[in-house]
Amino acid sequence: MVSLTGVGRSYGKGPHRVHALREVTTAIAHGELAAVVGPSGSGKSTLLNLIGTLDRPTTGQVVVDGQRVDRLDDRKLSALRAHRIGFVFQQFHLSGGTRAVDNVADGLLYTGMTRRGRRDRAAAALHRVGLGHRMDHRPHELSGGERQRVAIARAVVGDPALLLADEPTGALDTRSGALVVELLRELNAAGTTVVVITHDTELAASLPRRLVMRDGRLVEDTGARANGPRPAPESE
Ligand code: ADP
Repeated sequence: MVSLTGVGRSYGKGPHRVHALREVTTAIAHGELAAVVGPSGSGKSTLLNLIGTLDRPTTGQVVVDGQRVDRLDDRKLSALRAHRIGFVFQQFHLSGGTRAVDNVADGLLYTGMTRRGRRDRAAAALHRVGLGHRMDHRPHELSGGERQRVAIARAVVGDPALLLADEPTGALDTRSGALVVELLRELNAAGTTVVVITHDTELAASLPRRLVMRDGRLVEDTGARANGPRPAPESE
């Protein structure tokens, strides 16, 4: 689904240059569920932005869904992002004053679908995240956990192959956070590749794969899965 080869990303010039990422090489296969962990400032968001094609590397290669990100012009990059990748953020990023169903339908704005078609798909996505009874609620009428589920519905309404989440439980209480994690697991079980940044060590430990960042480097990568189905556990 994603591969990075010798990827670096720096900001600024001269003495102010910051190396946010250095020499990161890894791959994430279709169907994986991976956590990105590490201290604040270690490069997690920079890594997620590169995987999500929101940013381009300073050095090295990023391939997403078989396409070299540095070889695509902005229009093709936006198309790749719109059709294949969904994003979820810590602070939800919903439009205030807009009903849940319309917030979700906005995730399909660039698909060329009719307004009616977008609404129908949005309603189905809200049902999928357990919010069929909150269609007409506006963000301020929803709890934090519900807002995040609306944001997840918006991210997956176009059925992306890859879902990227930056601290999706960071602003939630434990119970709402657990529901969000359960939802990410369900989406993954249904075939979506999921990469999630988290500070929650318990959550990270419960996921099949962990990418550990420190000072812009990938210092540990456990549980990587080769392409193809996971081998059946050996019987005793
Ligand atoms: P994390 O997500 O692990 O907290 P980030 O990827 O946000 O880390 O940041 C990694 C490093 O890159 C930090 O030192 C940060 O200050 C720096 N950085 C990130 N984005 C920018 C930017 N747009 N301009 C300058 N420095 C940046």
